[in-house]
Amino acid sequence: MIQITMPLGFLGTVYREIRQSLTDMGEMFDLLHQPAEIQDAPDAKPLAVSGGRIEFDDVAFGYDAARPILRGFSLTVEPGQKVALVGPSGAGKSTIGRLLFRFYDVTGGAVRIDGQDLRAITQDSLHAAIGIVPQDTVLFNDTIRYNIAYGRDDATQDEIEAAARAARIHDFVMSLPEGYDTTVGERGLKLSGGEKQRVGIARTLLKNPPILLLDEATSALDTQTERDIQVSLKAMGKGRTVLTIAHRLSTIVDADLIVVMEQGRIVEQGRHEALLAQGGRYAAMWARQSAEEDVA
Ligand code: ATP
Repeated sequence: MIQITMPLGFLGTVYREIRQSLTDMGEMFDLLHQPAEIQDAPDAKPLAVSGGRIEFDDVAFGYDAARPILRGFSLTVEPGQKVALVGPSGAGKSTIGRLLFRFYDVTGGAVRIDGQDLRAITQDSLHAAIGIVPQDTVLFNDTIRYNIAYGRDDATQDEIEAAARAARIHDFVMSLPEGYDTTVGERGLKLSGGEKQRVGIARTLLKNPPILLLDEATSALDTQTERDIQVSLKAMGKGRTVLTIAHRLSTIVDADLIVVMEQGRIVEQGRHEALLAQGGRYAAMWARQSAEEDVA
């Protein structure tokens, strides 16, 4: 009996663990809209990053063939440049981010990093080169330490703390009775939107990627949290190429280039002051958002 129940009990535990990690991965794929059907080419090579130059070259794409989303989309982000994508809901901003991470393949043109077509490189090396700070960071039902170190199994406590400090979440963690051993997520301590995002920033800092893809939160955080996060994000962007999907224009006035999209096309681009002076779409969006913020 014992010989039978022991292994079965053990299998039960393993089964639950596997199920849990599948659930966690499932949630992550849902969030990132990962279709999980893209395969590496047989002769795929690891991406060799030289500076982190991103190039969308005459890209065409649609989620289904009957409905094109992007047509002739071209954009180059030079190494170290900060570029923001703005535009109305449905303009295609998040789609650009998904194509950069190669969740989908383009149907025309090419996306390249440092001259290498994404279809010719391994997905592992691509994903290692790009840090994503999503709107809503997925937390695993595990400790804060695990959540920050996720993807960097070899990280030391010192490295984890340094990342947490830079993301301005260390003091909060230390204020918890169990510190870095505190369980968070669905079945643990629920973190606020701002706290979750800072865990996500710490996770990305630890990964140290040359390219950052920031998907700015649409939901309003309180002003102080928003400022703290902006400071963390700005520090994180130093020396990296940054592509931001922006909703609030006030956070991107310093961007090297603002790209205004409408229906999958670039309709205006330039720096904040130049776009305001132009008096076009961006200026109208700015006026509208400023008025809304004044009312709020
Ligand atoms: P928002 O500011 O609301 O996030 P966005 O500019 O990021 O909008 P996208 O999410 O890129 O817009 O969507 C562009 C278009 O693609 C929209 O018309 C949308 O309906 C469509 N779309 C987005 N995701 C999918 C999908 N998984 N399957 C089919 N169509 C999609």
